[in-house]
Amino acid sequence: MQSKEDFLVFGAPRIEQDDIDAVESVLRSGWLGTGPKVSQFEREFALYRGASHAMALNSCTAALHLSLLASGVGPGDEVITTPMTFCATVNAIIHAGATPVLADVDPETLNIDPVQVLQKITPRTRAIVPVHFAGRPCDMDALMALASQHGIKVIEDCAHAIETEYHGRSAGTIGDFGCFSFYVTKNIVTGEGGMVFARRAEDAARIKILGLHGMTKDAWKRFSDEGYKHYYVVAAGFKYNMMDLQAAIGLKQLERVEHYWRRREAIWARYMNELADLPLGLPAPVEPHTRHGHHLFTVHVDAKRCGISRDAFLDAMTAQGIGVGVHYLSLNEHPFYQETYGWRPEDTPHAHRIGRQTVSLPISAKLSDAEVTRVIGAVRSILQAQSVKVAATAC
Ligand SMILES: *Cc1c(COP(=O)(O)O)cnc(C)c1O
Repeated sequence: MQSKEDFLVFGAPRIEQDDIDAVESVLRSGWLGTGPKVSQFEREFALYRGASHAMALNSCTAALHLSLLASGVGPGDEVITTPMTFCATVNAIIHAGATPVLADVDPETLNIDPVQVLQKITPRTRAIVPVHFAGRPCDMDALMALASQHGIKVIEDCAHAIETEYHGRSAGTIGDFGCFSFYVTKNIVTGEGGMVFARRAEDAARIKILGLHGMTKDAWKRFSDEGYKHYYVVAAGFKYNMMDLQAAIGLKQLERVEHYWRRREAIWARYMNELADLPLGLPAPVEPHTRHGHHLFTVHVDAKRCGISRDAFLDAMTAQGIGVGVHYLSLNEHPFYQETYGWRPEDTPHAHRIGRQTVSLPISAKLSDAEVTRVIGAVRSILQAQSVKVAATAC
């Protein structure tokens, strides 16, 4: 048992002196809310990804919600998404007034399977929300082809996929909208925070208005030194704006985004090499002409092969002082969706099985080499202890 201080917190962000100084300087400037730092963060993040329009918001959940509204999604519509995602993806669909529909994942990539999507398309389908799971890009060629054949929108959930690329294009710039998260466990962080890309200028303008109470464009400037300007409310909007306090951290984190990515890529490579001989399921190789975001490293614990159940493995890792995650229990395992939509885990058999076997090992850029060694050592000792037991009972 490790001491409490040694506990390796899953997904702990890497915060540097620059981030701290940036927050201090915003505090001293007196302009804490939405202002020049937010505008600068929007410009620089859009430039980094090659997006034409970027709007900073207070979360990826807000980005998904506003993208759905700007797509015209509302009551009576259906929106197809994956069961291998965080609940926010589906909740945003529900808050837009639509009915979420799950299409199963490809068991290798863990991304939504376009063949399953096609089977779920009805005359009511208005949008698809693919999630680039763990940072691996979805099969966007197939999804975009389906969308154009059926006249439906594509909203990319890029919460794991800031650095992800697909056939030379950045994730989030392929569909109609791309939604990013800067939540504390994500690849770069602002505490809470999100960003949305829109391909069309009119969609971007709509999101700008809806994200700040429905007030006319640039209403945040009404208190600036340019002099008081009247604003007009043109929609019942939301309080989804990002603050300069958050954007200041985001700007510093963005300077290090590639550095962090290379660190996670190196951790990924060590896990792939040093866990390869164990009876664990490891992630599929990265597809050609794509870039993986390396946000999560998920292994599959099949009790039959490993001699230990997934949940017992989670407990054993925690007992060794290593925080682990589960991404994700299939969404149709949750009571609310079962009661409201009649969903059953068996509806999406791949996601059901994966959700009960998956474990996320720590892969934050904050991890030192020694900590990565500790994680590998813990996984090996837990599985080897089991194989000794299995061998002993076999005798
Ligand atoms: C984290 C996450 C979200 C929500 O992001 P927030 O910024 O916390 O709202 C949405 N989708 C996926 C796949 C996520 O991992």
